[in-house]
Amino acid sequence: MRKALFLGNWKMHHTILETKSYFEKFLRLLLKHNFSDRTVGIAPPFTSLFYVHSLLKETPVKLCAQNAHFEEKGPFTGEISPLMLKELEVEYVILGHSERRHLFGEGDELIQRRVEGVYRAGLVPILCVGETLNERKEGKTFERVETQLKKGLAGLKEINPERIVIAYEPVWAIGTGVNATPSQAEEVHNFIRGLLEELYDEERAKRIRILYGGSVTPENVNELMREPNIDGVLVGGASLDPEKFFKICSIN
Ligand code: 13P
Repeated sequence: MRKALFLGNWKMHHTILETKSYFEKFLRLLLKHNFSDRTVGIAPPFTSLFYVHSLLKETPVKLCAQNAHFEEKGPFTGEISPLMLKELEVEYVILGHSERRHLFGEGDELIQRRVEGVYRAGLVPILCVGETLNERKEGKTFERVETQLKKGLAGLKEINPERIVIAYEPVWAIGTGVNATPSQAEEVHNFIRGLLEELYDEERAKRIRILYGGSVTPENVNELMREPNIDGVLVGGASLDPEKFFKICSIN
């Protein structure tokens, strides 16, 4: 009942020139799979969105963004509004990524406003949650994830479950080459599903997609995706290579 979702988060990688050569390869690969049974998306840097929009127009691949402000416009230097993203037919927006939280000081309250603003603008927020290595070692994983999830969703009392996505990205697994094992990830995904039931109801909780992110590769994606509550993946490093990302997205 939940359509699998494969998203590439390019972070601060790929100039427009590099993006051009990426899509020359990726669009050729796309001829082999039409992705009708799943959703595939790519979140390039803001500077490439306009260009990537034109490249993806006739393809099933969705355009995604790596952050967004909550207002339509205003004196917010350095920010991009949901309205601007909508103009480019961006569909999904990553919010509360651990790099935003830890390197740029974004807290739960700011992330909550971003999630609400993006949702109300008609885009799909992808709310990222996840514990640090220390928090895991101290047995605080569930506590941390619960706080991030509940605060992040606090502005959305009523939701359309197809229009919100949660991504569990343990900080210790991001960019380290050490992914959470399928059972470690499933344990937290199942916990998140339970929290969503509490916040909304069982029916809606069942329809919300929960992605796993953190050192996903073509080698480990299959076993992760076999877990019942892992509905897709958010891929960093491996999405920068068109062949690797295509392999990840086209698993059976
Ligand atoms: P890596 O796949 O490079 O570990 O990054 C994961 C991530 O942060 C995706 O948002």
